[in-house]
This record gives sequence, structure tokens and C-alpha cells, in this order.
Amino acid sequence: SVPLSFFGGLGGASKAGVLIKGSNYLEALAEAEIVVMDKTGTLTKGTFKVTEVKPASENGVEVISGEKLLELTAYAESYSNHPISLSIQKAYGKELDKNRLESTEELAGHGVHAVIDGFDIYAGNEKLMRQQKISFTNAAQIGTIVHVAKNDQYLGYILIADEIKEDAAECIRGLKAEGVNRVIMLTGDRKETADYVASQIGLTEVHSELLPGDKVDEVEKIIASKSSKGRLVFVGDGINDAPVLARADIGIAMGGLGSDAAIEAADVVIMTDEPSKIAAAMRISRKTLGIVK
Ligand code: ADP
Ligand code: MG
Repeated sequence: SVPLSFFGGLGGASKAGVLIKGSNYLEALAEAEIVVMDKTGTLTKGTFKVTEVKPASENGVEVISGEKLLELTAYAESYSNHPISLSIQKAYGKELDKNRLESTEELAGHGVHAVIDGFDIYAGNEKLMRQQKISFTNAAQIGTIVHVAKNDQYLGYILIADEIKEDAAECIRGLKAEGVNRVIMLTGDRKETADYVASQIGLTEVHSELLPGDKVDEVEKIIASKSSKGRLVFVGDGINDAPVLARADIGIAMGGLGSDAAIEAADVVIMTDEPSKIAAAMRISRKTLGIVK
């Protein structure tokens, strides 16, 4: 049977905007030793904005206009629901003639491939360019880069900026204050952007450029390294995060931004999307168990 105080704990958490799907998870939160967090949508807002469109040059001449580069990428990304794709659609802002699009496929953790006007278009990260053996140039600025290629020709890149959530640093401080030993960020994004976000919020453990499957492997490794009593918490928001959410002792999803698959797979849902609520839930848990007053 469930002690009566647990109902109070679950209710208190729910009032704070944290949905805990069972008293066992409320109890487990008090024993959190390691918190592993996804970057995009969890520590950052996940509302990307295009900040630069940069066509490639050959012998000092641009191989495509900025306008055409953005248009082509908008077509290639038109069937993707990734926040990156949505920001590109928004920046382009015009209606798309879907007749030009012969096929399109999403390449998880890489980007997209589409056939447009008979050409193979690739839009995505460095990994995708390397896979297609296309040489590319990099932006010095911080942000997510979408490199674009047509067949084997590099066309340039689109730079996209995300914003760190207001309470991300408070989240990290709060977790430490609740006795969490290690806070680790995992992301598919490039190293420069991941390291920058980490440095801004006081996080020191970062693993970047991971494919969705790599995140599961990384969590397995971390689980193997923890004490037998301590619990591992994973916090994420994306469809790709569902396997990791299921693998963690406690899976936490962002309720507003999160995909249905992530919310379904999670044990705890942060309805307000504020990561600082995780520490608040831990505090409620420890109060409920009588560990703190
Ligand atoms: P995160 O781990 O930050 O949530 P994802 O696993 O969703 O990121 O994606 C990892 C990386 O793959 C992104 O940072 C981006 O470089 C690339 N990517 C994924 N989907 C797309 C897309 N639709 N268009 C362009 N790039 C993409
Ligand atoms: Mg994500």
C-alpha cells in the first residue's frame, strides 16, 4: 500500500507543474545520483531562428544566391517536423510547390535527403557531409549549422541559433543542492555549440555529436559507473529520446515541447518545460519521505 503522505507529495508536485506517474517514481527521485540531460528543448528553448544564410564560393563567386539556398533547403526540409526544419520554413516564409519535390527522407541525427527538380539535395550536419564525401566550410559563430549539398557539390550553410532557457543555470545549481553527484549533457549537436551552452550554465560533463543510438550506449556506460543504490535520471524531449527515457531509472520529459512518444515513455513530465522543476520535484520527494523538513 502507498503511504498517505505520498498523495500529498504527488499533489504538491502536480501543483508545481510536475506530473509524477506513480508513487514509486516519487520515492526514486530522492535517490537520484546522476542526472543526464538532452540539450535541445531541455536546457535550450528549442525554438531555432535562422541567423545567417551563407552560400559557398568558388573562385570568389557564389555558387548559388542566398535566396535560392534558403529556398532549396526549405523544400528539402518540408516534411520534417524537427525544430531546425520549422525555423527554416519560417525564414523562407513562402508557399512551396510540392510538385518539385520527388522524394524526401529524414536521416536521424544527420539531417534530410530529398530529390528536388531531379537533383539529390542533402541538408544536415558535418556527419552527413562526411558521409556523402562533400567538403564543407564551417562557421566561426556559435549555433547549429545546416550544410547543404546538391549531388556532390557543396552549396553553403544556414546558421541557426537557439536560446538557453532562463532557468537552465538554476536547474544545474538546484540539482547539485539536492545532492546529485553528476549532471551530464548529451546532444546530437556539434561540439562548439554544446560546449558553449555547457559553459554558460555551469555544466562540466558534455558529450556531443551523438546519434540517437549513441545516447543509449552512453547512458548504459554511465549506469555501469554509478553506485548500486543511486538512481539515474534522464531528461529529454524528442522522439529519439524515448529509448533512453525507458532505459533510465527515472525518465523525465518536457510536457509542452516534448513529442508524444517522449511523454508516453516518461515516468515524470515537466508540464511547464522548466528544467529547474526537476530539483523542485526532488525536494518534494525528499520531504515526502521525511528526509528533509
Ligand atoms: P539533439 O540531441 O540536440 O536533440 P537531434 O538528435 O534531434 O538533436 O539532432 C542531432 C543533429 O542532427 C542536429 O543538431 C542537426 O545537426 C542534425 N539534424 C537532425 N534533424 C535535422 C533536420 N531536419 N535538418 C537538419 N539537420 C538536422
Ligand atoms: Mg532533442
